[in-house]
Amino acid sequence: MSLRPLIVGNWKMNGTRASLSEARAIDRAAQRLAWADVALAPPFTLLYPVHAEVEHIRVGAQDLSTEECGAFTGEVSASMLADAGAQFVIIGHSERRSRHGEDDAALVAKCGRAVDAGLSVILCVGEPLDVRDAAEAEPYVLAQLDAVLPDMAATGPEIGEVVTVAYEPVWAIGTGRSASAPEISAMHRVIRDLLVRRYGEAGGRSVRILYGGSVNGTNAREILALPEVNGALVGGASLTSQSFMSIVLAAGADDAG
Ligand code: PEP
Repeated sequence: MSLRPLIVGNWKMNGTRASLSEARAIDRAAQRLAWADVALAPPFTLLYPVHAEVEHIRVGAQDLSTEECGAFTGEVSASMLADAGAQFVIIGHSERRSRHGEDDAALVAKCGRAVDAGLSVILCVGEPLDVRDAAEAEPYVLAQLDAVLPDMAATGPEIGEVVTVAYEPVWAIGTGRSASAPEISAMHRVIRDLLVRRYGEAGGRSVRILYGGSVNGTNAREILALPEVNGALVGGASLTSQSFMSIVLAAGADDAG
């Protein structure tokens, strides 16, 4: 599949203004790349500062509110994210699902708010280890995704401009244990089939499916070379420009020879 790879760094709850130098370095390096789109999702506090510092990468948020405005102390709405320079938002990260109790209804609401505000969404799905061990990973992940994929108007933007999927097995996030190449390929194939069922030919052609879970400079080349993989969602290894760019460079390893 010849979709231009997308490499997204999720800084999670890391980073202060001192980290802007890393964002600037990533932006400078991304300027010289012909083969990949690069994006960062810093914490809310750095959204506008990163947006103001970069020109060549996309900037997005890690979460958003189910509500649009009002008495929701501590919440940040989709339109606030857009106002701060966000172009996309990550929805349904496993840390939000498990630590903040986000269920399908909340994720559907968040997705709707984001799309209405003109943000694209990165929808995260992935199974815990007991589900994989029980050989239930595929139906589990497909049910997660089917529940939250937005219905798109036939006349609206192409689905791939709005939706990106990130397959992130929970047991691979932050553990140093990435899924194997056959596990990744098999899951991405069934996700692709679901996208085609939901969106027809455009779901097959335009939606990027990222892999996330302990991607680093050592394993990135093998993972990103898989034909079913259209990029990566990177946590820990996105915090410095050096480690993040080693992954971005791996996305172009075959192009670069
Ligand atoms: C993530 O949190 O989305 C992630 C993939 O983290 P890590 O790369 O650290 O496993």
